[in-house]
Amino acid sequence: MRCQKCRQKAVLTISRSNAKYCKPCFFETFSVQVKRALTKDKMVTLEDRILIAVSGGKDSLALWHILVESGYQTAGLHVDLGIGSYSESSRQKVEKFAEKYGQRLYTYRLKEAHQMGIVELSEATDRSPCSACGTIKRYHFNRFAMEHGYTVLATGHNLDDEAARLLGNVLRWQQEYLNKQSPILEGNEGGFVKKIKPLYRLSEYEVAAYSFLKGIDYVVEECPMSQSSPMLIYKKALNLIENHSPGTKHQFYLSFLENRKTAPTGSGSMEMRSCTICGEPTSSVSSVCGYCKLIVRLPGYTAPLHEKAL
Ligand SMILES: [Zn+2]
Ligand SMILES: [Zn+2]
Repeated sequence: MRCQKCRQKAVLTISRSNAKYCKPCFFETFSVQVKRALTKDKMVTLEDRILIAVSGGKDSLALWHILVESGYQTAGLHVDLGIGSYSESSRQKVEKFAEKYGQRLYTYRLKEAHQMGIVELSEATDRSPCSACGTIKRYHFNRFAMEHGYTVLATGHNLDDEAARLLGNVLRWQQEYLNKQSPILEGNEGGFVKKIKPLYRLSEYEVAAYSFLKGIDYVVEECPMSQSSPMLIYKKALNLIENHSPGTKHQFYLSFLENRKTAPTGSGSMEMRSCTICGEPTSSVSSVCGYCKLIVRLPGYTAPLHEKAL
C-alpha cells in the first residue's frame, strides 16, 4: 500500500475517499482541513485568545495539539465531573498535556463546587447525566471565557459528532436547533463568547489516527455515563450507513452546511436577558438561565454570596 501523494509506504486509508497516506502526508492533509476551518471559515486570527474545552479524550487534545503547533494563543479549561477513576485519569492526561506543551490549564471541579459529582447531581436534580453535564459545561465554559478575557471558545467536536447531532435534529425535525447548528456561533455583546468547532471536517477515525500517530496520551475509554446517550445510537446508525456507502456521513453534514438557505442564527440574533439569579446572559423567557434552573433543584441550595447580591 503506497501513499497517494508521495508513493512512500502508506500507514492508513481514509475510507470515504479511499485515499491512502504515509504519516507526513496524512498530517499535512489533516492540517489543511483544520486550517481551512480556522482561516477560510474565519473562525480565529492569531490575535485571538482561544480557550479550549478539554476533556482528556482524543478530540480535545488533538485540537489543542494542532492549535499549539500552528502558533495560536491557547489555554485549556477542564471540568472534572467527579466520576471516580474515569475523571481522575482524564484530569491527569489533560494536566500532563498542558505541562508537556507549556500551556495554561484551568480546572473546574464539580465536587468542590457542589460537594457531589455528576452522577449524584443528576440524581438530585432528576436530569439525565448527559443533559446535566452539558448544561454545566456550557455555562462554565462561557462564563470562564468572558471573565478571563478569552475571545473564542473552541471544542473538539468532529464530523461524526456533528453528523450525529444533525441526524437527531432531523429525526425530530427540531427547526430551532437546525437553525443554530453550525461549526461557528458568533458571540454577542450580551455576554456570549464566540464558539468554534475546528475539527468539524474530520471524522472520528481521522482524529483518532492523528492523536495516535502524534503520540498524544489521551483517555481511551468513553465517559461511562454516555453509554445510553441518544448521540451514541445516532453515531452507530450513521456508521452502519457509512459502511455500505463510504462518504455518506461527510456529504450529509457538509451538504447541510452548504445548502442551508438561511445563515445560522447563532447566539447573535437571540433576544438576550440577564439571569435573575446569577446575572449571566440567557435567552430563556423566564429570565432564569438553564444552569440556575438545574442548580436551584439541588437540596439545600443557597445562592453564593456574589450571586445573592444580584
Ligand atoms: Zn506520503
Ligand atoms: Zn443563572
